Amino acid sequence: MLSDFHVHSKFSADSDENLENIINKAISLNMKDICITDHQDWYWPVPGESFDIDTDSYFNELNILKDKYSSKINLHIGVELGITCDNYKKNADFLKSYPFEYVIGSCHIVDNMDPYYSEFWENRNEADAFRTYFSTLLDALKLFNSFNTLGHLDYIVRYAPNKDKNYNCSDYFNIVEQIFKEIIHKNIALEINTGALAKGMDFANPHFDMLSFYKDLGGKLVAVGSDAHIAGNIGFGFDKAAQLIEHFNFKNINE
Ligand SMILES: [Zn+2]
Ligand SMILES: [Zn+2]
Repeated sequence: MLSDFHVHSKFSADSDENLENIINKAISLNMKDICITDHQDWYWPVPGESFDIDTDSYFNELNILKDKYSSKINLHIGVELGITCDNYKKNADFLKSYPFEYVIGSCHIVDNMDPYYSEFWENRNEADAFRTYFSTLLDALKLFNSFNTLGHLDYIVRYAPNKDKNYNCSDYFNIVEQIFKEIIHKNIALEINTGALAKGMDFANPHFDMLSFYKDLGGKLVAVGSDAHIAGNIGFGFDKAAQLIEHFNFKNINE
């Protein structure tokens, strides 16, 4: 099976998963590599919540497990960095301070809120919210792009009240074109994130039409991640991801 390069553990505020459960699950799936990518989102706007990682403990635990399992799997120490227009300096400093092997840049905050929460959608038109999300991502990307992979491009659609019912990819191509040109120019991979499949949606992020547009613009590099927050979801939907890679003849940077 393809290796999983987007996995959360107890080091993320939204997961309780034990690292060894994750590693053993990946080994049972015959993965060659597994990369833990816990969250670091500076200035998280939800009161009482923090997505600041305990980085020293993270490296200590993972380095021990790297050695312990080295004969069975390659364990990599990654991070999913939240990118906004306010945190680019913090992100740059953070990456200078720790030797992460793999970095995903993801936009989780729109209008100072996470669209994961239903309050975000109150009195909001879905198409407007999608457009604002893509614009925010583009603005953040222009300020900071020192990462390997752009995470879950149309993540916001997962959480819209009507899911993808009102989502027409081409309505956003004018903004997304700039996002794709930016990442293609910087050799940043576009993530095929299967997390939505585990939530019962019928497409991975980004949507097929977005992948097609990426291809049309000359995009080639992709990465694959389950975005699992429990060990049971590791590798979920990777058969679909593999089909997409083959269909578009993309290059998986982690294989
Ligand atoms: Zn994310
Ligand atoms: Zn994630």
